[in-house]
Amino acid sequence: MAEKYREFVALLKSAHRILAFTGAGISTGSGIPDFRGPDGVWKRRQPVYYHDFMTSEAARVEHWDFKLEGWPAFKAARPNKAHLAIVQLERAGKIEGVVTQNIDGLQTKAGTSPERLVELHGTNLSVECQNCGELSDPELHFAYFQKTRKPPVCHCGGYLKPATISFGQNLRAGHLERAYLAARNADLVLALGSTLSVYPAADIPLVAAREGIPYIIINRGPTEHDHLRECTLRLEGDVAGLLPAAVNAICGTSP
Ligand SMILES: [Zn+2]
Repeated sequence: MAEKYREFVALLKSAHRILAFTGAGISTGSGIPDFRGPDGVWKRRQPVYYHDFMTSEAARVEHWDFKLEGWPAFKAARPNKAHLAIVQLERAGKIEGVVTQNIDGLQTKAGTSPERLVELHGTNLSVECQNCGELSDPELHFAYFQKTRKPPVCHCGGYLKPATISFGQNLRAGHLERAYLAARNADLVLALGSTLSVYPAADIPLVAAREGIPYIIINRGPTEHDHLRECTLRLEGDVAGLLPAAVNAICGTSP
């Protein structure tokens, strides 16, 4: 492990245009509810599909009720050392882009520049009108829903929905384009806390790696890219344990 860690630090040091691709494992310890675990919400609820949200008031009530349940935890969640280490890399001029599968908004809270960040699956920190696309703060909408049990509607008449990608809803084309652009420009790709099993998201680090640049995977537990020849270095463990120390070693102390 010590040898691998030294190699990791050396690769980070020589990189200037890093693509950081992050999954749920980076937010462990930040108070994010576990949707898939033994007490996960999917054990009690059926997800609402996008088509149903757009065509059924009952489905909209169910979706808002589900999102209301998770809101206090998402609102209170704070970025951890791993999110901050990515910001530190950006401030050192070493980040090309950060592409996250997470909807917790923690990379935004940590301070990653919006122009460098792609939240592929959307964010719980905004509400989006499904008609005009306007974004707004969730707080007022949750308060309204809690009081009235009516799903909020935009001033344009469109349905408002927390700005996360629902089951059956397409990823935003602009987001994918920006993510692929960052992948093609990168000189190092880091996959952090992702099992790399959800597509098309998991394709993005692979597109970068296939350009022939180093591909480093850090995750606790196996990933679907572990045995690909594109994987240069595989570190087993918690991202918040491994990444900050390496970043400090090359950039100095944390921000
Ligand atoms: Zn609207």
